Amino acid sequence: MEVALVTGGSRGIGSCLCGALADLGYAVIINYNHNKEKAENLAKEIVSGGGIALTYKCDVSKPEEVKEMFKFAKKEFGHVDVLINNAGISRFNTITDISDEEWQEMIGVNLSGTFYTCRECAKMMIGRQYGKIINISSMWGIQGASCESHYSASKSGVIGLTKALAMELAPSNITVNAIAPGAIDTDMMSALSEEDYKAYISEVPLGMIGSTKEVALAMKYILSSNYLTGQVISPNGGVVI
Ligand code: NAP
Repeated sequence: MEVALVTGGSRGIGSCLCGALADLGYAVIINYNHNKEKAENLAKEIVSGGGIALTYKCDVSKPEEVKEMFKFAKKEFGHVDVLINNAGISRFNTITDISDEEWQEMIGVNLSGTFYTCRECAKMMIGRQYGKIINISSMWGIQGASCESHYSASKSGVIGLTKALAMELAPSNITVNAIAPGAIDTDMMSALSEEDYKAYISEVPLGMIGSTKEVALAMKYILSSNYLTGQVISPNGGVVI
């Protein structure tokens, strides 16, 4: 059985991706940081539908915890075939107000976290000469976002990491791609006031906020291909073209 590990699988996009992977027949390791109950409920749901799912708590910004998570995966399943780097945080702040701590936290979770998991997973995947890595970036990593310079920088970094690893790992039969979603209806969007939410929708060419299923569709496409690597797929309603 193929095994998928999803970081930040407890809520939002990650939770939808875990469900989609279980539907595709993968055994799923659902990583969470704070929301143990949500992760466990999702695992129960997958298991009651006939799938295989385990949960694992790990703060992806901590390299030692990430190493332990991959030891857990190896112990439970022997390998990881698919890694989805989805865990992420976002904040709104102006460049003059972003503290060193806020900058470090953003880069630590979104970019360093993705690097730490890729590094551990690559060790396993190179040994087996097989694997697929999908990093969740953002359309704001392609086009800069005002008052989100740290978020944009972290998500651009994820795209750079994706492209470099795609080159480096292709000879080992490992593909590395990114999905750079536009606004998707999750808790992350709840930071917007109702007014800002409506104003944002009025600027989306397709006139709507995306659902988590749009990200799952992009993931399924990437997983279905053995020839796609180093690419960035951006379901964003036409905001960034
Ligand atoms: P969300 O609803 O806020 O969920 C975030 C997930 O990340 C949660 O499962 C959370 O786990 C996990 N997480 C956060 N910090 C973590 C850490 N240090 N270690 C491990 N897990 C951590 O966010 P979302 O909207 O689903 O976003 C998922 C990804 O898509 C993020 O990378 C985000 O940047 C990206 N994205 C989102 C949108 C959007 O509009 N929603 C658009 C573009 C890109 P716990 O709850 O267990 O702490």
